[in-house]
Amino acid sequence: MSRFFNPSLSNLEPYMPGEQPQGQTFIKLNTNESPFSPSPLAVKAAAHEAARMNLYSDPACRDLLAMLADQLGVGSDQVFASNGSDEVLAFCFQGLCPNGAAFADLTYGFYPVFAQLYGIDAQVIPLRDDFSIDIAGYGAGNHTVFLANPNAPTGLALPRDAIALLLRANPNRLIVVDEAYVAFGAERALPLLSQYDNLLIIGTFSKSHGLAGARLGYAIGSKTVIEDLNRIKFSFNPYNVNRMTLAAGIGALQDQLYFEQCRQKIIAVRGRAIAALRNLGFVCTDSKANFIFATHPNHNANMLYLTLRENGILVRWLDVPRAKDYLRITVGTDAQMETLIAVLTDIIQ
Ligand SMILES: *Cc1c(COP(=O)(O)O)cnc(C)c1O
Repeated sequence: MSRFFNPSLSNLEPYMPGEQPQGQTFIKLNTNESPFSPSPLAVKAAAHEAARMNLYSDPACRDLLAMLADQLGVGSDQVFASNGSDEVLAFCFQGLCPNGAAFADLTYGFYPVFAQLYGIDAQVIPLRDDFSIDIAGYGAGNHTVFLANPNAPTGLALPRDAIALLLRANPNRLIVVDEAYVAFGAERALPLLSQYDNLLIIGTFSKSHGLAGARLGYAIGSKTVIEDLNRIKFSFNPYNVNRMTLAAGIGALQDQLYFEQCRQKIIAVRGRAIAALRNLGFVCTDSKANFIFATHPNHNANMLYLTLRENGILVRWLDVPRAKDYLRITVGTDAQMETLIAVLTDIIQ
C-alpha cells in the first residue's frame, strides 16, 4: 500500500475472481461461463460496431433497453443497462443502501466486498444447515436485502412465493433479487414487479447468453428506482456500456432460439453430470444454476480441486468456512463433463 492510499480503505479485501488462464489448455469449469459461443447474430453485430469505436456509445443504451423492455413486458423506463451486473450491484450498494445491506453468510462473494468498499453496514443472515434461505431471518431491520436467486455457490432457488412474502412484509425496504442464473431453472421474480415497487431485479448476459467477456448486465425495477440508478451512473460513467457490447446484447436478444437451445443443453447436461457424480459418492445440492455444488464424504475438496487442476481441469474451490468441503463445478459441454467424470473416477478409485 502506498502512503497515498485512503486509510479508510486500508482493510479492503478485494473480490477474488476465479482463475482466467490465457490459452485453451484447461477444461475451464471454474467461473460459470457458458461453454458455448455467443449467438452468431451477437458476434456479427459486435464486429460491425468495431469500426465505429471512434464514437462514444449511446449513454441511454436506448436500442438495447427498448428491446429488453419489450421482451420483458415492462416500460423502457423500468430497465437499466450496466457494465456487467457487478456494476449495477455496486451502484445499489453505493446509492440504495441508506440503512445498510443484508445478505446471506454464503452467497455471491462480491456483496461483502461492495459493502466494505462503500462503508455500508452489513447484516449477515446465516443460511440453514441445508443451505436453504430462511426468509424469516430477513424480517428484522431496515437494511436493503440482496438475494441471489438461485444462490451462488449453492445453486438453491427460492420459490417466487417466498420473495413475494418478503416484499409484502417490507414495503419500505428495497429487495434486490440477483437473477444471474435464473435462466437455468428458477422462478423469475418478474411477475411480482407490477405489484411491488420495492423489488429490483438484477440480470446478466454473462452466464446464459455467452457474453461474460462483453460485460453486460441490467436491472429491472420501478421507474423511480431506475431513475436513482441513472443518477449514479451519470455521475460516474455515462458511457458505461461500450458500442460492441450494446450491439452484441441486441443480437443475443434477437436470437431467442439459440438462447433456448443453449439453456436447455446446460439443464440436460447438469442432470446427467449430477447423476454421475452421485454415482461416485458425491453429495450434490439440487442446483438450479449452471454449476454444481458437490462434496464427497471421503475425499478432501481442496485435494480434489488440486488433483483435477494437475489433470487439466479447473473447478472452483472456495476457501470460506461453509463451502470449503465443496467443489463448485460449472456445467460445460457433455464432452467436458465426461472428461471430468472420468478423471474423478480415477482419483476416487
Ligand atoms: C456472475 C455473477 C454476477 C456478475 O456477473 P457479471 O458478469 O458482472 O454480469 C452477479 N451475481 C451473481 C450471483 C453471479 O454469480
